[in-house]
Amino acid sequence: MLTTFNSVINEYISECKNCGQCNLSCPTHLTGLLNPLGLLRDLEMNSGSLEKVLNSQSIFNCLACNRCMVDCPTHINGKGKAKGEGQGMDMSNLIRELRQYAFENNITVKDKPEKPGCGTILQNKSDSKASQKTLPKIGVLHYFKNTSDLNLLKTGEIAYFIDDLPQLQKNYPKFSAEIDQIPLAVVRILNQLKIKPVVINMKSSGHDDLWIGDYTTFKMLAEYNVKTYQKAKVKTIVIENDEAYRTWKFDYPRVIPDFDFEVYHLSEFLMEQNFIKKSVRNFPVDVSFTYHDSSRLGRMCGGIYDAPRLILESLKGVKLIEMANNREYSFDFGCTPFLQINEDTKQMWIDFVKEVRDTGAQYFITANPKTLAHYNFVNSSLFKDSDNTRIPIAKDWAVFLNRFLR
Ligand code: SF4
Ligand code: SF4
Repeated sequence: MLTTFNSVINEYISECKNCGQCNLSCPTHLTGLLNPLGLLRDLEMNSGSLEKVLNSQSIFNCLACNRCMVDCPTHINGKGKAKGEGQGMDMSNLIRELRQYAFENNITVKDKPEKPGCGTILQNKSDSKASQKTLPKIGVLHYFKNTSDLNLLKTGEIAYFIDDLPQLQKNYPKFSAEIDQIPLAVVRILNQLKIKPVVINMKSSGHDDLWIGDYTTFKMLAEYNVKTYQKAKVKTIVIENDEAYRTWKFDYPRVIPDFDFEVYHLSEFLMEQNFIKKSVRNFPVDVSFTYHDSSRLGRMCGGIYDAPRLILESLKGVKLIEMANNREYSFDFGCTPFLQINEDTKQMWIDFVKEVRDTGAQYFITANPKTLAHYNFVNSSLFKDSDNTRIPIAKDWAVFLNRFLR
């Protein structure tokens, strides 16, 4: 088994040119939590080294963000595209394969690190195995209990996939009210186009299960969700949440042989529907915003950079101020970073939020609900704001857009 796995790993690392650029681009390397080049060299040596890698904390400290791949010379056109879309190394998927192997073979971290890192959820196998047994449906209809003006369907051609927002609200109750607004805003936007979306209780997309290495749970979730939409006669799926979008668009088709849906990010869907012309009020405002390119919507999703910007920028009086690191060069908070807070991870998040603040924009706009919660947490808990610095207000992309509807 290890021999077969070694050949999978070799396929990834055989393209590496040993240049070290990934170390220079990796946010966790800057904190001392991960050495991507060192990890690749360890993997290259022999199976003893592979075991060493699997037993170490390194693979759990990776944010799976592919920032390191943007300037990797194995990418013919750069930009860190995911395997299958471009060519060359794919660090995130290599890490995912290593985690999956460790997960499936019950390999746990042996060397307790001096600096425990970001991805400790990966070691919490008991939680994940419990979820395999129950795989609960996620109730989302409560969002629409008091909204008689919104139109939803139980079956139909176009669905809006909400994902596990209720779970996120449970984890971050302090920011729950903010997250509550997301499903309402998306449905309102779609209704404005005279689209009544299918909104039914589904299961989690399985994004986190896939990236912690629990492939079995991920596949079960994918199969359930696909079957549920097939039964509801759905043909097109619209998603705002970047992680769920990435999962439906790229990861589900890899495990579901008869996958036959059109999957759109909400921003792309609205561009195609000529939304701005049809649905936006033309009243002047004077508002500035900065926009966060998450790895899931950018580097790891074929690069959805323009549509979210173009739609907001076309609003009269709304001005975009870019962050210093934007588009393929943007940073993330990481997939699972809040499970273990230490001085290094704190510093990473503080640096990210400083970059947002440095724009001087009034709003910080994101299509990742976790980022919304993380950003608010960092501002409220990790900064000492004696200088009264103006803090950009975090808003979900659709919630912000919703303010400008006719
Ligand atoms: S940047 Fe790419 S080629 Fe260079 S060491 Fe890293 S993975 Fe290898
Ligand atoms: S995927 Fe992200 S965290 Fe992992 S090695 Fe690359 S840049 Fe670093």
